[in-house]
Amino acid sequence: MGKVTGFMEYERLEEGYAPVQTRLKNYNEFVIGLKADESKIQAARCMDCGTPFCNNGCPVNNIIPDFNDLVYRNEWRNAIDVLHSTNNFPEFTGRICPAPCEAACTLNVNDDAVGIKSIEHAIIDRAWAEGWVKARPPKAKTGKKVAVVGSGPAGMAAAQQLARVGHDVTVFEKNDRVGGLLRYGIPDFKMEKSHIDRRVEQMQAEGVQFRTGVIVGKLPEGSKVTNWAKESITPDELQAQFDAVVLAGGAEQSRDLPVPGRELDGVHFAMEFLPQQNKLNAGDKLKSQLRADGKHVIVIGGGDTGSDCVGTSNRHGAKSVTQFELLPMPPEQENKPLVWPYWPIKLRTSSSHEEGCEREFAIATKEFIGGEGKDKGKLRALKSVRVEWQGGKMIEVPGSEQTLPADLVLLAMGFVSPVASVLDAFGVDKDARGNARAGTDFIGGYATNVAKVFAAGDVRRGQSLVVWAIREGRQAARAVDEFLMGSSDLPR
Ligand SMILES: Cc1cc2nc3c(=O)[nH]c(=O)nc-3n(C[C@H](O)[C@H](O)[C@H](O)COP(=O)(O)OP(=O)(O)OC[C@H]3O[C@@H](n4cnc5c(N)ncnc54)[C@H](O)[C@@H]3O)c2cc1C
Ligand code: SF4
Repeated sequence: MGKVTGFMEYERLEEGYAPVQTRLKNYNEFVIGLKADESKIQAARCMDCGTPFCNNGCPVNNIIPDFNDLVYRNEWRNAIDVLHSTNNFPEFTGRICPAPCEAACTLNVNDDAVGIKSIEHAIIDRAWAEGWVKARPPKAKTGKKVAVVGSGPAGMAAAQQLARVGHDVTVFEKNDRVGGLLRYGIPDFKMEKSHIDRRVEQMQAEGVQFRTGVIVGKLPEGSKVTNWAKESITPDELQAQFDAVVLAGGAEQSRDLPVPGRELDGVHFAMEFLPQQNKLNAGDKLKSQLRADGKHVIVIGGGDTGSDCVGTSNRHGAKSVTQFELLPMPPEQENKPLVWPYWPIKLRTSSSHEEGCEREFAIATKEFIGGEGKDKGKLRALKSVRVEWQGGKMIEVPGSEQTLPADLVLLAMGFVSPVASVLDAFGVDKDARGNARAGTDFIGGYATNVAKVFAAGDVRRGQSLVVWAIREGRQAARAVDEFLMGSSDLPR
Protein backbone atom coordinates (compact mmCIF):
# COMPACT_ATOMS: atom_id res chain seq x y z
CA MET A 1 0.00 0.00 0.00
CA GLY A 2 1.46 3.34 -1.11
CA LYS A 3 0.33 5.92 1.38
CA VAL A 4 -1.63 4.82 4.43
CA THR A 5 -3.52 8.09 4.79
CA GLY A 6 -3.78 8.89 1.06
CA PHE A 7 -7.53 8.30 0.84
CA MET A 8 -8.12 10.82 3.63
CA GLU A 9 -5.75 13.46 2.25
CA TYR A 10 -6.44 13.55 -1.45
CA GLU A 11 -9.59 14.11 -3.45
CA ARG A 12 -10.45 12.33 -6.65
CA LEU A 13 -9.23 14.16 -9.73
CA GLU A 14 -11.08 13.56 -13.00
CA GLU A 15 -9.31 13.47 -16.35
CA GLY A 16 -9.66 16.74 -18.27
CA TYR A 17 -11.66 17.34 -21.46
CA ALA A 18 -10.87 19.79 -24.25
CA PRO A 19 -13.55 22.55 -24.32
CA VAL A 20 -16.75 21.63 -26.17
CA GLN A 21 -16.33 24.26 -28.89
CA THR A 22 -12.81 23.01 -29.68
CA ARG A 23 -13.59 19.31 -29.69
CA LEU A 24 -16.74 19.65 -31.80
CA LYS A 25 -14.56 20.88 -34.69
CA ASN A 26 -12.93 17.51 -35.26
CA TYR A 27 -13.07 13.79 -34.47
CA ASN A 28 -9.92 13.62 -32.36
CA GLU A 29 -9.78 12.20 -28.85
CA PHE A 30 -10.25 15.02 -26.37
CA VAL A 31 -9.68 13.42 -22.96
CA ILE A 32 -6.59 14.84 -21.28
CA GLY A 33 -5.02 12.04 -19.27
CA LEU A 34 -3.51 12.47 -15.82
CA LYS A 35 0.13 13.57 -15.60
CA ALA A 36 2.60 11.32 -13.77
CA ASP A 37 2.47 13.31 -10.52
CA GLU A 38 -1.33 13.45 -10.63
CA SER A 39 -1.51 9.69 -11.24
CA LYS A 40 0.75 9.11 -8.24
CA ILE A 41 -1.58 11.10 -5.98
CA GLN A 42 -4.65 9.36 -7.36
CA ALA A 43 -2.98 5.97 -6.85
CA ALA A 44 -2.23 6.98 -3.24
CA ARG A 45 -6.01 7.14 -2.67
CA CYS A 46 -6.16 3.34 -2.93
CA MET A 47 -6.34 2.12 0.65
CA ASP A 48 -5.42 -1.50 -0.12
CA CYS A 49 -8.63 -2.44 1.67
CA GLY A 50 -7.71 -6.11 1.94
CA THR A 51 -10.65 -7.49 -0.01
CA PRO A 52 -10.34 -5.67 -3.32
CA PHE A 53 -13.89 -5.73 -4.66
CA CYS A 54 -12.56 -3.68 -7.60
CA ASN A 55 -10.57 -6.73 -8.73
CA ASN A 56 -13.80 -8.71 -8.90
CA GLY A 57 -15.80 -5.83 -10.37
CA CYS A 58 -13.34 -5.68 -13.27
CA PRO A 59 -14.31 -8.33 -15.86
CA VAL A 60 -10.64 -9.05 -16.70
CA ASN A 61 -9.82 -9.06 -12.98
CA ASN A 62 -7.14 -6.39 -13.26
CA ILE A 63 -4.91 -6.50 -10.17
CA ILE A 64 -5.80 -2.94 -9.30
CA PRO A 65 -4.32 -2.45 -5.79
CA ASP A 66 -0.95 -3.72 -7.07
CA PHE A 67 -0.71 -1.35 -10.01
CA ASN A 68 -1.92 1.53 -7.85
CA ASP A 69 0.86 0.81 -5.39
CA LEU A 70 3.48 0.58 -8.15
CA VAL A 71 2.40 3.91 -9.66
CA TYR A 72 2.57 5.51 -6.24
CA ARG A 73 6.14 4.19 -5.90
CA ASN A 74 7.05 5.42 -9.38
CA GLU A 75 7.57 1.86 -10.62
CA TRP A 76 5.73 2.37 -13.91
CA ARG A 77 7.49 -0.40 -15.76
CA ASN A 78 6.37 -2.97 -13.21
CA ALA A 79 2.90 -1.42 -13.26
CA ILE A 80 2.48 -2.15 -16.99
CA ASP A 81 3.63 -5.73 -16.46
CA VAL A 82 0.95 -6.18 -13.80
CA LEU A 83 -1.66 -4.58 -16.06
CA HIS A 84 -0.69 -6.66 -19.09
CA SER A 85 -0.83 -9.84 -17.02
CA THR A 86 -4.64 -9.62 -17.07
CA ASN A 87 -5.50 -7.29 -19.95
CA ASN A 88 -4.09 -7.48 -23.48
CA PHE A 89 -5.31 -4.03 -24.47
CA PRO A 90 -5.46 -1.58 -21.53
CA GLU A 91 -5.34 1.38 -23.95
CA PHE A 92 -8.81 0.32 -25.16
CA THR A 93 -10.31 -0.15 -21.71
CA GLY A 94 -8.45 2.85 -20.23
CA ARG A 95 -10.37 4.95 -22.77
CA ILE A 96 -13.80 3.39 -23.21
CA CYS A 97 -14.50 1.04 -20.32
CA PRO A 98 -17.43 2.22 -18.17
CA ALA A 99 -15.29 1.14 -15.21
CA PRO A 100 -17.44 -1.25 -13.17
CA CYS A 101 -14.30 -1.59 -11.00
CA GLU A 102 -14.89 1.93 -9.69
CA ALA A 103 -18.48 1.14 -8.71
CA ALA A 104 -17.02 -1.75 -6.67
CA CYS A 105 -14.16 0.27 -5.07
CA THR A 106 -14.34 0.13 -1.26
CA LEU A 107 -13.71 3.88 -1.07
CA ASN A 108 -16.89 4.31 -3.11
CA VAL A 109 -18.96 3.16 -0.11
CA ASN A 110 -18.87 6.64 1.40
CA ASP A 111 -16.50 8.70 -0.77
CA ASP A 112 -15.48 9.07 -4.42
CA ALA A 113 -13.98 5.88 -5.86
CA VAL A 114 -10.30 5.68 -6.75
CA GLY A 115 -9.87 6.85 -10.36
CA ILE A 116 -8.84 3.37 -11.49
CA LYS A 117 -9.58 3.84 -15.17
CA SER A 118 -7.57 7.07 -15.39
CA ILE A 119 -4.61 5.34 -13.71
CA GLU A 120 -4.87 2.42 -16.15
CA HIS A 121 -4.96 4.94 -19.01
CA ALA A 122 -1.85 6.71 -17.67
CA ILE A 123 0.09 3.45 -17.24
CA ILE A 124 -0.47 2.13 -20.74
CA ASP A 125 0.02 5.47 -22.50
CA ARG A 126 3.33 5.86 -20.69
CA ALA A 127 4.32 2.29 -21.54
CA TRP A 128 3.77 2.92 -25.25
CA ALA A 129 5.57 6.27 -25.08
CA GLU A 130 8.59 4.69 -23.33
CA GLY A 131 8.75 1.80 -25.83
CA TRP A 132 7.97 -0.81 -23.15
CA VAL A 133 5.23 -2.50 -25.19
CA LYS A 134 7.05 -5.06 -27.30
CA ALA A 135 6.05 -8.07 -29.36
CA ARG A 136 6.27 -11.34 -27.44
CA PRO A 137 6.67 -14.01 -30.12
CA PRO A 138 6.55 -17.62 -28.91
CA LYS A 139 9.77 -19.46 -28.09
CA ALA A 140 8.57 -22.53 -30.00
CA LYS A 141 5.80 -23.34 -32.44
CA THR A 142 3.25 -26.09 -31.85
CA GLY A 143 2.38 -26.72 -35.50
CA LYS A 144 -1.34 -26.32 -34.65
CA LYS A 145 -3.49 -23.99 -36.75
CA VAL A 146 -6.29 -21.88 -35.30
CA ALA A 147 -8.79 -19.74 -37.21
CA VAL A 148 -10.40 -16.80 -35.44
CA VAL A 149 -13.58 -15.46 -37.08
CA GLY A 150 -13.93 -11.76 -36.27
CA SER A 151 -11.32 -9.19 -35.28
CA GLY A 152 -13.12 -7.30 -32.50
CA PRO A 153 -11.63 -7.20 -29.01
CA ALA A 154 -12.66 -10.83 -28.36
CA GLY A 155 -11.01 -12.11 -31.55
CA MET A 156 -7.93 -9.95 -31.02
CA ALA A 157 -7.45 -11.11 -27.42
CA ALA A 158 -7.95 -14.77 -28.34
CA ALA A 159 -5.56 -14.48 -31.31
CA GLN A 160 -2.83 -12.79 -29.28
CA GLN A 161 -2.98 -15.31 -26.46
CA LEU A 162 -2.95 -18.28 -28.85
CA ALA A 163 -0.07 -16.91 -30.95
CA ARG A 164 2.01 -16.30 -27.83
CA VAL A 165 1.87 -19.99 -26.94
CA GLY A 166 3.03 -21.00 -30.41
CA HIS A 167 -0.10 -21.70 -32.46
CA ASP A 168 -0.41 -20.47 -36.05
CA VAL A 169 -3.32 -18.07 -35.81
CA THR A 170 -5.23 -16.57 -38.75
CA VAL A 171 -7.90 -13.96 -38.07
CA PHE A 172 -10.67 -13.67 -40.70
CA GLU A 173 -12.47 -10.33 -40.84
CA LYS A 174 -15.21 -9.42 -43.33
CA ASN A 175 -14.61 -5.70 -42.95
CA ASP A 176 -11.67 -3.93 -44.55
CA ARG A 177 -9.88 -3.18 -41.29
CA VAL A 178 -9.25 -4.98 -38.02
CA GLY A 179 -11.01 -4.03 -34.78
CA GLY A 180 -14.72 -4.93 -34.91
CA LEU A 181 -16.90 -2.36 -33.17
CA LEU A 182 -13.77 -0.67 -31.81
CA ARG A 183 -13.02 0.23 -35.42
CA TYR A 184 -16.43 0.86 -36.97
CA GLY A 185 -18.82 1.44 -34.06
CA ILE A 186 -16.98 3.51 -31.48
CA PRO A 187 -16.22 6.97 -32.86
CA ASP A 188 -12.65 8.24 -33.15
CA PHE A 189 -13.34 10.98 -30.62
CA LYS A 190 -13.77 8.25 -27.98
CA MET A 191 -10.90 6.09 -29.23
CA GLU A 192 -8.59 6.93 -32.12
CA LYS A 193 -7.90 3.97 -34.35
CA SER A 194 -4.10 4.23 -34.22
CA HIS A 195 -4.42 2.32 -30.93
CA ILE A 196 -5.77 -0.67 -32.84
CA ASP A 197 -3.20 -0.36 -35.64
CA ARG A 198 -0.34 -0.44 -33.14
CA ARG A 199 -1.68 -3.66 -31.62
CA VAL A 200 -2.16 -5.20 -35.07
CA GLU A 201 1.53 -4.55 -35.77
CA GLN A 202 2.49 -6.08 -32.44
CA MET A 203 0.33 -9.14 -33.10
CA GLN A 204 1.72 -9.56 -36.62
CA ALA A 205 5.21 -9.55 -35.11
CA GLU A 206 3.99 -12.29 -32.76
CA GLY A 207 2.91 -14.35 -35.77
CA VAL A 208 -0.81 -13.58 -36.14
CA GLN A 209 -2.04 -13.35 -39.73
CA PHE A 210 -4.94 -11.04 -40.47
CA ARG A 211 -7.10 -11.70 -43.51
CA THR A 212 -9.39 -8.67 -43.85
CA GLY A 213 -12.14 -8.48 -46.45
CA VAL A 214 -12.83 -12.20 -46.08
CA ILE A 215 -16.23 -13.34 -44.84
CA VAL A 216 -16.71 -16.75 -43.31
CA GLY A 217 -20.07 -18.06 -44.55
CA LYS A 218 -22.50 -15.45 -45.86
CA LEU A 219 -24.98 -12.85 -44.68
CA PRO A 220 -28.67 -13.09 -45.50
CA GLU A 221 -29.90 -11.19 -48.58
CA GLY A 222 -30.42 -7.46 -47.85
CA SER A 223 -28.55 -7.55 -44.53
CA LYS A 224 -27.55 -4.08 -43.28
CA VAL A 225 -24.65 -5.41 -41.21
CA THR A 226 -21.28 -3.82 -42.14
CA ASN A 227 -19.58 -5.93 -44.77
CA TRP A 228 -16.75 -4.98 -47.10
CA ALA A 229 -15.75 -8.55 -47.90
CA LYS A 230 -14.24 -9.25 -51.30
CA GLU A 231 -13.71 -12.96 -50.68
CA SER A 232 -15.46 -15.67 -48.77
CA ILE A 233 -14.60 -18.98 -47.21
CA THR A 234 -17.11 -21.58 -46.12
CA PRO A 235 -17.30 -22.96 -42.58
CA ASP A 236 -16.54 -26.42 -44.01
CA GLU A 237 -13.33 -25.17 -45.64
CA LEU A 238 -12.31 -23.47 -42.42
CA GLN A 239 -12.93 -26.59 -40.36
CA ALA A 240 -10.96 -28.68 -42.84
CA GLN A 241 -7.98 -26.31 -42.86
CA PHE A 242 -7.67 -25.53 -39.14
CA ASP A 243 -7.29 -27.57 -35.96
CA ALA A 244 -9.63 -25.26 -34.06
CA VAL A 245 -11.95 -22.35 -34.84
CA VAL A 246 -12.88 -19.48 -32.50
CA LEU A 247 -16.11 -17.71 -33.44
CA ALA A 248 -15.80 -14.08 -32.35
CA GLY A 249 -18.13 -12.39 -34.82
CA GLY A 250 -19.99 -10.22 -32.32
CA ALA A 251 -23.74 -9.65 -32.07
CA GLU A 252 -24.31 -7.50 -35.11
CA GLN A 253 -28.05 -7.80 -35.71
CA SER A 254 -29.45 -4.35 -34.80
CA ARG A 255 -32.83 -4.09 -33.06
CA ASP A 256 -35.39 -2.59 -35.45
CA LEU A 257 -38.44 -0.42 -34.77
CA PRO A 258 -41.22 -1.62 -37.08
CA VAL A 259 -43.67 1.26 -36.66
CA PRO A 260 -45.51 2.94 -39.57
CA GLY A 261 -43.12 4.95 -41.73
CA ARG A 262 -40.06 2.81 -40.95
CA GLU A 263 -39.33 2.59 -44.69
CA LEU A 264 -38.98 6.38 -45.08
CA ASP A 265 -35.75 7.86 -46.34
CA GLY A 266 -34.08 9.24 -43.19
CA VAL A 267 -34.68 6.36 -40.77
CA HIS A 268 -31.45 4.41 -40.30
CA PHE A 269 -29.70 2.06 -37.95
CA ALA A 270 -26.91 3.68 -35.91
CA MET A 271 -24.58 1.13 -37.48
CA GLU A 272 -25.35 2.52 -40.95
CA PHE A 273 -24.38 6.01 -39.72
CA LEU A 274 -21.38 5.59 -37.40
CA PRO A 275 -19.09 3.39 -39.55
CA GLN A 276 -19.23 5.86 -42.43
CA GLN A 277 -17.74 8.64 -40.34
CA ASN A 278 -15.01 6.35 -39.03
CA LYS A 279 -14.17 5.36 -42.61
CA LEU A 280 -13.91 8.99 -43.66
CA ASN A 281 -11.70 9.73 -40.67
CA ALA A 282 -9.48 6.87 -41.82
CA GLY A 283 -9.06 8.62 -45.19
CA ASP A 284 -11.49 6.53 -47.26
CA LYS A 285 -13.56 8.09 -50.01
CA LEU A 286 -17.30 7.37 -49.87
CA LYS A 287 -19.77 7.67 -52.74
CA SER A 288 -22.24 9.28 -50.33
CA GLN A 289 -22.54 9.79 -46.62
CA LEU A 290 -25.47 9.85 -44.22
CA ARG A 291 -25.07 13.33 -42.74
CA ALA A 292 -26.80 15.23 -39.96
CA ASP A 293 -25.83 18.78 -41.04
CA GLY A 294 -28.68 21.24 -40.57
CA LYS A 295 -31.07 18.41 -39.69
CA HIS A 296 -33.35 17.74 -36.77
CA VAL A 297 -31.90 14.46 -35.50
CA ILE A 298 -33.69 12.08 -33.16
CA VAL A 299 -31.65 9.25 -31.71
CA ILE A 300 -33.78 6.40 -30.42
CA GLY A 301 -32.01 4.52 -27.62
CA GLY A 302 -30.32 5.84 -24.52
CA GLY A 303 -27.15 3.73 -24.36
CA ASP A 304 -23.53 4.06 -25.55
CA THR A 305 -24.44 3.67 -29.22
CA GLY A 306 -27.06 6.40 -28.93
CA SER A 307 -24.62 8.68 -27.20
CA ASP A 308 -22.08 8.10 -30.00
CA CYS A 309 -24.74 9.09 -32.56
CA VAL A 310 -25.34 12.29 -30.55
CA GLY A 311 -21.61 13.17 -30.56
CA THR A 312 -21.25 12.42 -34.29
CA SER A 313 -24.42 14.38 -35.21
CA ASN A 314 -23.17 17.41 -33.30
CA ARG A 315 -19.84 17.21 -35.11
CA HIS A 316 -21.72 17.14 -38.42
CA GLY A 317 -23.54 20.33 -37.39
CA ALA A 318 -27.08 19.07 -36.69
CA LYS A 319 -29.77 21.71 -36.16
CA SER A 320 -31.07 19.87 -33.11
CA VAL A 321 -30.28 16.55 -31.44
CA THR A 322 -32.82 14.76 -29.27
CA GLN A 323 -32.33 11.38 -27.65
CA PHE A 324 -35.24 9.13 -26.69
CA GLU A 325 -35.17 6.56 -23.92
CA LEU A 326 -38.12 4.26 -23.26
CA LEU A 327 -37.37 3.87 -19.56
CA PRO A 328 -38.00 6.60 -16.97
CA MET A 329 -35.14 8.90 -15.95
CA PRO A 330 -33.04 7.06 -13.36
CA PRO A 331 -32.01 8.77 -10.11
CA GLU A 332 -28.98 11.09 -10.26
CA GLN A 333 -27.39 9.36 -7.28
CA GLU A 334 -27.60 5.68 -6.50
CA ASN A 335 -28.49 4.33 -3.07
CA LYS A 336 -24.98 3.17 -2.26
CA PRO A 337 -25.70 1.00 0.79
CA LEU A 338 -28.25 -0.84 -1.32
CA VAL A 339 -26.28 -1.38 -4.52
CA TRP A 340 -22.54 -1.29 -3.73
CA PRO A 341 -20.37 -3.06 -5.00
CA TYR A 342 -22.58 -3.68 -8.02
CA TRP A 343 -23.04 -1.52 -11.11
CA PRO A 344 -25.72 1.01 -10.14
CA ILE A 345 -28.56 2.25 -12.30
CA LYS A 346 -28.22 6.02 -12.24
CA LEU A 347 -28.37 8.94 -14.63
CA ARG A 348 -25.22 8.93 -16.73
CA THR A 349 -24.31 12.01 -18.69
CA SER A 350 -21.72 11.29 -21.34
CA SER A 351 -19.29 13.78 -22.87
CA SER A 352 -21.46 13.65 -26.01
CA HIS A 353 -24.53 14.67 -24.02
CA GLU A 354 -22.57 17.61 -22.63
CA GLU A 355 -21.90 18.74 -26.19
CA GLY A 356 -25.59 19.40 -26.76
CA CYS A 357 -28.58 17.08 -26.59
CA GLU A 358 -32.18 17.17 -25.45
CA ARG A 359 -32.77 13.96 -23.49
CA GLU A 360 -36.30 12.61 -23.30
CA PHE A 361 -37.14 9.73 -20.96
CA ALA A 362 -40.23 7.51 -20.78
CA ILE A 363 -41.09 8.19 -24.39
CA ALA A 364 -42.00 5.82 -27.21
CA THR A 365 -42.19 6.28 -30.98
CA LYS A 366 -45.61 5.73 -32.59
CA GLU A 367 -44.90 6.67 -36.19
CA PHE A 368 -42.42 8.18 -38.62
CA ILE A 369 -44.09 10.79 -40.81
CA GLY A 370 -43.03 11.57 -44.38
CA GLY A 371 -43.23 14.87 -46.26
CA GLU A 372 -45.46 15.81 -49.15
CA GLY A 373 -44.85 16.87 -52.75
CA LYS A 374 -41.14 16.71 -53.53
CA ASP A 375 -40.53 15.53 -49.97
CA LYS A 376 -42.73 12.46 -50.42
CA GLY A 377 -40.96 9.39 -49.08
CA LYS A 378 -38.64 11.52 -46.96
CA LEU A 379 -38.79 11.60 -43.18
CA ARG A 380 -40.04 14.94 -41.87
CA ALA A 381 -41.48 14.26 -38.40
CA LEU A 382 -41.89 11.69 -35.66
CA LYS A 383 -44.98 11.03 -33.57
CA SER A 384 -44.20 10.12 -29.97
CA VAL A 385 -46.16 9.21 -26.88
CA ARG A 386 -45.29 9.39 -23.19
CA VAL A 387 -45.21 6.07 -21.38
CA GLU A 388 -45.50 4.90 -17.79
CA TRP A 389 -44.18 1.69 -16.37
CA GLN A 390 -46.50 -0.26 -14.09
CA GLY A 391 -45.48 -3.67 -12.74
CA GLY A 392 -42.88 -4.03 -15.50
CA LYS A 393 -45.47 -3.22 -18.18
CA MET A 394 -45.32 -0.18 -20.44
CA ILE A 395 -48.54 1.85 -20.65
CA GLU A 396 -49.08 4.76 -23.02
CA VAL A 397 -50.26 7.97 -21.32
CA PRO A 398 -53.55 9.00 -23.00
CA GLY A 399 -53.44 12.38 -24.72
CA SER A 400 -49.65 12.66 -24.55
CA GLU A 401 -48.98 12.23 -28.26
CA GLN A 402 -46.64 14.79 -29.76
CA THR A 403 -45.24 15.40 -33.24
CA LEU A 404 -41.62 16.49 -33.42
CA PRO A 405 -39.72 17.65 -36.52
CA ALA A 406 -37.26 14.96 -37.63
CA ASP A 407 -35.09 14.73 -40.76
CA LEU A 408 -32.83 11.95 -39.52
CA VAL A 409 -33.73 9.20 -37.07
CA LEU A 410 -30.98 6.92 -35.82
CA LEU A 411 -32.07 3.61 -34.32
CA ALA A 412 -29.69 2.82 -31.48
CA MET A 413 -31.74 0.34 -29.48
CA GLY A 414 -29.04 -2.26 -29.17
CA PHE A 415 -28.37 -5.52 -30.91
CA VAL A 416 -30.65 -8.52 -30.73
CA SER A 417 -28.21 -11.32 -31.58
CA PRO A 418 -25.41 -12.50 -33.84
CA VAL A 419 -26.23 -13.04 -37.51
CA ALA A 420 -28.00 -16.42 -37.44
CA SER A 421 -26.93 -17.56 -40.92
CA VAL A 422 -23.25 -17.74 -39.95
CA LEU A 423 -23.90 -19.76 -36.77
CA ASP A 424 -26.30 -22.00 -38.69
CA ALA A 425 -23.73 -22.63 -41.40
CA PHE A 426 -21.40 -23.97 -38.71
CA GLY A 427 -24.23 -25.99 -37.17
CA VAL A 428 -23.68 -24.23 -33.84
CA ASP A 429 -26.57 -24.46 -31.36
CA LYS A 430 -28.07 -21.17 -30.23
CA ASP A 431 -29.47 -20.16 -26.85
CA ALA A 432 -32.91 -18.62 -26.33
CA ARG A 433 -31.58 -15.19 -27.36
CA GLY A 434 -29.98 -16.49 -30.55
CA ASN A 435 -26.40 -16.35 -29.26
CA ALA A 436 -23.91 -19.17 -29.81
CA ARG A 437 -24.51 -21.67 -27.04
CA ALA A 438 -21.31 -22.30 -25.05
CA GLY A 439 -20.63 -22.21 -21.32
CA THR A 440 -17.77 -20.62 -19.40
CA ASP A 441 -16.87 -23.52 -17.10
CA PHE A 442 -13.23 -24.04 -16.27
CA ILE A 443 -13.37 -27.36 -18.08
CA GLY A 444 -15.15 -27.42 -21.44
CA GLY A 445 -15.88 -23.69 -21.41
CA TYR A 446 -16.35 -21.75 -24.66
CA ALA A 447 -16.74 -24.98 -26.65
CA THR A 448 -19.84 -25.15 -28.83
CA ASN A 449 -21.70 -28.34 -29.75
CA VAL A 450 -19.61 -28.57 -32.94
CA ALA A 451 -16.28 -30.37 -32.60
CA LYS A 452 -13.29 -27.99 -32.39
CA VAL A 453 -15.48 -24.85 -32.71
CA PHE A 454 -15.41 -22.35 -29.83
CA ALA A 455 -17.25 -19.05 -29.29
CA ALA A 456 -16.29 -15.91 -27.34
CA GLY A 457 -17.37 -12.30 -26.89
CA ASP A 458 -20.68 -10.79 -27.97
CA VAL A 459 -21.42 -13.75 -30.26
CA ARG A 460 -21.65 -15.90 -27.11
CA ARG A 461 -22.82 -13.53 -24.38
CA GLY A 462 -24.88 -11.07 -26.47
CA GLN A 463 -24.13 -7.36 -26.79
CA SER A 464 -21.83 -6.35 -24.00
CA LEU A 465 -18.62 -4.42 -23.34
CA VAL A 466 -15.10 -4.34 -24.71
CA VAL A 467 -13.68 -5.47 -21.39
CA TRP A 468 -15.98 -8.53 -21.37
CA ALA A 469 -14.94 -9.33 -24.94
CA ILE A 470 -11.27 -9.22 -23.91
CA ARG A 471 -11.98 -11.51 -20.96
CA GLU A 472 -13.84 -14.00 -23.12
CA GLY A 473 -11.15 -13.94 -25.82
CA ARG A 474 -8.48 -14.69 -23.22
CA GLN A 475 -10.47 -17.45 -21.57
CA ALA A 476 -11.47 -19.02 -24.87
CA ALA A 477 -7.78 -19.02 -25.89
CA ARG A 478 -6.98 -21.06 -22.82
CA ALA A 479 -9.79 -23.48 -23.62
CA VAL A 480 -8.54 -23.88 -27.20
CA ASP A 481 -4.93 -24.34 -26.06
CA GLU A 482 -6.05 -27.02 -23.60
CA PHE A 483 -8.07 -28.73 -26.34
CA LEU A 484 -5.12 -28.72 -28.73
CA MET A 485 -2.31 -29.54 -26.30
CA GLY A 486 -4.02 -31.44 -23.46
CA SER A 487 -3.09 -28.75 -20.93
CA SER A 488 -2.45 -25.01 -20.95
CA ASP A 489 -0.38 -22.46 -19.07
CA LEU A 490 -2.47 -19.59 -20.35
CA PRO A 491 -4.23 -17.64 -17.59
CA ARG A 492 -7.99 -17.57 -17.33
C1 LIG B 1 -21.57 2.36 -31.27
C2 LIG B 1 -21.07 1.47 -30.16
C3 LIG B 1 -20.43 2.03 -29.09
C4 LIG B 1 -19.94 1.22 -28.07
N1 LIG B 1 -19.28 1.81 -27.03
C5 LIG B 1 -18.72 1.03 -26.09
C6 LIG B 1 -17.98 1.63 -25.04
O1 LIG B 1 -17.84 2.84 -24.95
N2 LIG B 1 -17.40 0.80 -24.12
C7 LIG B 1 -17.52 -0.56 -24.20
O2 LIG B 1 -16.94 -1.26 -23.37
N3 LIG B 1 -18.25 -1.14 -25.17
C8 LIG B 1 -18.85 -0.38 -26.11
N4 LIG B 1 -19.59 -0.97 -27.11
C9 LIG B 1 -19.73 -2.44 -27.12
C10 LIG B 1 -18.46 -3.11 -27.64
O3 LIG B 1 -17.96 -2.43 -28.77
C11 LIG B 1 -18.71 -4.57 -27.96
O4 LIG B 1 -19.26 -5.20 -26.82
C12 LIG B 1 -17.42 -5.30 -28.33
O5 LIG B 1 -16.77 -4.67 -29.42
C13 LIG B 1 -17.70 -6.77 -28.67
O6 LIG B 1 -16.52 -7.36 -29.09
P1 LIG B 1 -16.51 -8.67 -29.99
O7 LIG B 1 -15.08 -8.90 -30.32
O8 LIG B 1 -17.26 -9.75 -29.33
O9 LIG B 1 -17.32 -8.31 -31.31
P2 LIG B 1 -17.23 -7.10 -32.36
O10 LIG B 1 -16.48 -5.94 -31.81
O11 LIG B 1 -18.63 -6.86 -32.81
O12 LIG B 1 -16.36 -7.70 -33.56
C14 LIG B 1 -16.86 -8.75 -34.35
C15 LIG B 1 -16.14 -8.71 -35.69
O13 LIG B 1 -16.40 -9.93 -36.38
C16 LIG B 1 -16.58 -9.66 -37.75
N5 LIG B 1 -17.38 -10.74 -38.32
C17 LIG B 1 -18.64 -11.09 -37.96
N6 LIG B 1 -19.04 -12.15 -38.67
C18 LIG B 1 -18.03 -12.47 -39.51
C19 LIG B 1 -17.88 -13.47 -40.50
N7 LIG B 1 -18.84 -14.34 -40.76
N8 LIG B 1 -16.70 -13.52 -41.19
C20 LIG B 1 -15.70 -12.63 -40.93
N9 LIG B 1 -15.82 -11.66 -40.00
C21 LIG B 1 -16.97 -11.58 -39.29
C22 LIG B 1 -17.31 -8.34 -37.76
O14 LIG B 1 -17.16 -7.67 -39.01
C23 LIG B 1 -16.61 -7.60 -36.61
O15 LIG B 1 -15.50 -6.88 -37.10
C24 LIG B 1 -20.12 -0.18 -28.14
C25 LIG B 1 -20.80 -0.75 -29.22
C26 LIG B 1 -21.27 0.07 -30.23
C27 LIG B 1 -22.00 -0.53 -31.38
S1 SF4 C 1 -10.73 -2.73 -17.51
FE1 SF4 C 1 -12.52 -1.48 -16.92
S2 SF4 C 1 -13.27 -2.51 -15.06
FE2 SF4 C 1 -11.18 -3.26 -15.40
S3 SF4 C 1 -9.82 -1.88 -14.20
FE3 SF4 C 1 -9.94 -1.03 -16.28
S4 SF4 C 1 -11.60 0.46 -16.19
FE4 SF4 C 1 -11.83 -0.88 -14.41
